[in-house]
Amino acid sequence: MIKKILPAQAFRKLAALYADMQTSYSAHAQTLGLSCNGCPQNCCTSFFQHHTRIEWAYLLHGLQELPAERRAAYEERARAYVREATDALSRGERPSIMCPLNDDGRCGVYAHRLMICRLHGVPNRLRYPDGRAIDFPGCFRSQELCAGADSFPVLDRTALYTRLMELEVQFVGPRQIRALPRVDLTLAEMIVQGSPKL
Ligand code: SF4
Repeated sequence: MIKKILPAQAFRKLAALYADMQTSYSAHAQTLGLSCNGCPQNCCTSFFQHHTRIEWAYLLHGLQELPAERRAAYEERARAYVREATDALSRGERPSIMCPLNDDGRCGVYAHRLMICRLHGVPNRLRYPDGRAIDFPGCFRSQELCAGADSFPVLDRTALYTRLMELEVQFVGPRQIRALPRVDLTLAEMIVQGSPKL
């Protein structure tokens, strides 16, 4: 049975999981010949929702470690992001807005960035217990590299995602998690809302 653990312990486990994601991502990117160097696009404008309180809390923990002035600037950008995204969605458009934590192409919270930020680039697959699977094509460079190839490596993130979900239950608590609503927030919304209520 999964038991609730202390936040500090959950954060250590999440850091270890992120390191494993990095190892897996790097191996796949290397096999594919994929590099971000000189990329004309920036995938930090991609519009994503995130779904765990453990990642949300860890991100906010990372922001807390920054100087107050820098954190305030990120928070202001996050509020602007939410306003712009809401406007775009109300026009029926998918938002394409730079992440509030991106400083001239560099991630301002690199060690605390979220799972999707880490795995987005390479082709990857998520399998569900009922047998369904969802494939994600990776970034545009990755799609170019794979186009026309007879085969290419696909990062199966099922085990990594399963570990993240187990960690989520440990962080929130197996009883408490059943009483809480599902998380479905952009990174900017997480920053605007502040640390998750547990
Ligand atoms: S958190 Fe960092 S890596 Fe993720 S979208 Fe924002 S700037 Fe990019």
